[in-house]
Amino acid sequence: MLKGFQELFNTIYEIESPWEVIDCAKVSGTSGPTIEVVVQHGDKHNLSCPDCGHLVGPAHDTRRRRWRAADWEWDRVFITCQIPRIQCPVHGFRQLPVPWAETDQQITRSLERRLIDELSDRSVMSVAKQMGLSWGVVHRVKARAVKRGFERR
Ligand SMILES: [Zn+2]
Repeated sequence: MLKGFQELFNTIYEIESPWEVIDCAKVSGTSGPTIEVVVQHGDKHNLSCPDCGHLVGPAHDTRRRRWRAADWEWDRVFITCQIPRIQCPVHGFRQLPVPWAETDQQITRSLERRLIDELSDRSVMSVAKQMGLSWGVVHRVKARAVKRGFERR
């Protein structure tokens, strides 16, 4: 565990209670050093349905997800979480939403906002290259931002 990083990462990566950082370690990845931040839901026994708030108790199972977060200094940062999945009597199996990202995206909300800023005057390819992300990931961020822009009009 990198000392003192827990609270800092909670703040900069928007990891809010009951979610908490339980580990962060610097590892050497294929494209340089990466910081792996492990997050878990702090309450294993009293989970509620995200749709109706019905208290269902412990998770049925968990699904592992990993997101690229904004870089920390020169290192790439990834957040990993075993997301609890609950079984609601009304809504069936539901995965709990997490505050720092859309569960079906590969990057965090804060990194998505940063990409949108960069995309205001640069091409998808140039932003993708600089951030070490695939063209597809950056293109999807742009497409969603454009769609949201139209919906607001
Ligand atoms: Zn429900």
